[in-house]
This record gives sequence, structure tokens and C-alpha cells, in this order.
Amino acid sequence: MTNVDPGLNEPFKRLFFAVPCSVQQSRAISRWRGGLGLRSGRPVPAENFHLTLMFLGAVGVDQLPTILDAAGRLPPLGRPATLLLDQVEVWRRSQALVLASKQTAPALLRWVYALQQAMLPLGFEVDPREFRPHLTLMRDFRGGVPETALDTEFRLVAETFVLYESVKGRYQAVAQWPLLAG
Ligand code: ATP
Ligand code: MG
Repeated sequence: MTNVDPGLNEPFKRLFFAVPCSVQQSRAISRWRGGLGLRSGRPVPAENFHLTLMFLGAVGVDQLPTILDAAGRLPPLGRPATLLLDQVEVWRRSQALVLASKQTAPALLRWVYALQQAMLPLGFEVDPREFRPHLTLMRDFRGGVPETALDTEFRLVAETFVLYESVKGRYQAVAQWPLLAG
């Protein structure tokens, strides 16, 4: 018997929509994280830094064209969305240390709501929890928020949104759209 890679001809993809983090910004956040002296958890690789907009989960590849079509029809954001990541939080249930926003721009909240509405007819469930933009820094994190992390502020300019496939801890962009009107 020959060894067949189970990933070959895989009929499902693990997908999510997210705002990417620029290389420069990822480096800055990673450098800052390195200075926190964290002793718990698995650091998210800097190249994986992102801000999830909507998690779709396992999706049959035959649904991809419909998803791409629906995402491409979303109205753009009226003006640039700068996400201020100004709060470090521990999310106990997901055991994550995250960079979050104290306040979310209403325009972005409306846009995420539109994305959820666009995905509803395709059979995707909308997370009933309020959307809270965040960038995950550490997984399997059991500590508290480090004191030195409290006076931080990063700005993430959301210019595009991306449909990512998550494969064994790596993300591959499937498609990308501008978030702003061109
Ligand atoms: P790993 O699970 O291997 O540690 P990961 O969490 O980065 O890596 P995925 O589990 O594929 O990779 O998750 C991709 C993105 O979707 C991450 O932002 C993750 O937080 C989010 N996500 C994963 N599962 C869910 C879920 N059930 N509900 C909401 N968001 C989710
Ligand atoms: Mg995960």
C-alpha cells in the first residue's frame, strides 16, 4: 500500500475571513510581545497575526464559488477603518492572550454584520457573541495580563479583507478584496 497524503483532494477547507496584519506591524507587535517576559502559552507566529472577521469552519470546496461571489458583493467601508488595539486581555475560555480594542468603530461593526448576513443564506451560523476585534498573541495561555503590557497601543489600518484557508497551523490566502471603495 502506498502512503496517501490525507490532505490531497481534501473536499473540505477550514476557512475564515480576516484582516491581515502588515509585515511591519507584525514585527513591531512580535518585538513588543517578546519584551513581556511571558512564561505561559504558545506564541502565535508573527506571520499568522490577523484579526478575524468571521470564522466559517470546515467548508465543502463546492461552496467556494458562492462564498467568493457573496464576499465580492459586500459594500465597501465608507472610510478607512483604523483599528486601535489598545487593550491587552486574557480570554479565559479560549485560553488566549489577545490585543483588543476598548472601542470598535461602528462602521466596522456594521460591515461585519453585513458579512455575517451575506454568509447566512449559505448556511453559516453567526456567532451569537458580540463581535470583538482582536489579535491573538498567545494560545494555551494560563497567566494573567502582564503589568508591562498595559500601556500599549497599536494601530491596524484595515485596507483589505482576506478569505484564509487554515492548514496545519498555517494560513493561506484564498482571495482578497479591498475593504474601502477604490
Ligand atoms: P491552532 O488551532 O492550530 O492553534 P489557529 O487557532 O491559529 O491554530 P484555526 O483554529 O484554524 O487556527 O483558526 C483560524 C482563526 O479562526 C483564528 O483566528 C481562530 O481564533 C479562529 N477560530 C477558530 N475556531 C473558531 C471558532 N470555533 N469560532 C470562532 N473563531 C474561531
Ligand atoms: Mg484554533
